[in-house]
Amino acid sequence: MRVDAVTLFPGMIDAPLSESIVGRARAEGFLELGFVNPRDFTEDRHRTVDDKPYGGGTGMVMMAEPVYRALKKVRKRGSCVVLLTPKGRKFDQAAAVELSKKKHLVFICGHYEGIDERVTPLADMQLSIGDYVLTGGEPAAVAVIDAVTRLIPGVLRKGDATVNETFEGGLLEAPHYTRPAVWRGKKVPEALLSGNHRLIAEWRRAQAEALTSRARPDLAAPKKRPSPAKAGRKPSPRKRGRFSGK
Ligand code: SAM
Repeated sequence: MRVDAVTLFPGMIDAPLSESIVGRARAEGFLELGFVNPRDFTEDRHRTVDDKPYGGGTGMVMMAEPVYRALKKVRKRGSCVVLLTPKGRKFDQAAAVELSKKKHLVFICGHYEGIDERVTPLADMQLSIGDYVLTGGEPAAVAVIDAVTRLIPGVLRKGDATVNETFEGGLLEAPHYTRPAVWRGKKVPEALLSGNHRLIAEWRRAQAEALTSRARPDLAAPKKRPSPAKAGRKPSPRKRGRFSGK
């Protein structure tokens, strides 16, 4: 996959994504990461990329033209352009899966008070990594690129490493343990030591369900409600009408 970032601070993305699994994915050619700096598309002596906001107010706004030109340099037919902004759709695992299927992603990273609004229609999608305000889009780009890269087939060494993970099937993942079996008096749950794969799978499923409903009830799959007949009630006239096709 090819990813480009339109950013005034490429080092903020390049450095963290040079380490660990994503660094290896880049070295092995699973991920080609490029940068384009709007500052290289300015024409004045000071290479100005920002200006004061119309209507007054604090802070500076990134000008549309250098961002437009930088984007034009990397955008191709079929590219998916993502504007990082706290006003965007909340990034989640479903969005990571969606993006991992694209051939070319381009992330536009704002800075200062953000980018001139007239740039927004150039993006195919607006993404936010959460309900808080960062100093720039770069840390958001790092989070999104990391989550997407580990979904590229071949990046994770074990083929099934993303199966049963947190958010797969709407559940948080069951807890993990490793050696020693007793650590400072705390034992690893019996089921995990049993060697019985069915028992282990059942234990993990039960843990994942309990953890999800405790920590993230918003993720827990809605419980099936008994039908009115089974619950010993008569269906309401409105519902009766709807289901009998009236
Ligand atoms: N004034 C803007 C507002 O109130 O919406 C915030 C601008 S923020 C200081 C500068 C840049 O950081 C934004 O243009 C955006 O690219 C990025 N950014 C900040 N928070 C973000 C978030 N939660 N998700 C994605 N990008 C974010």
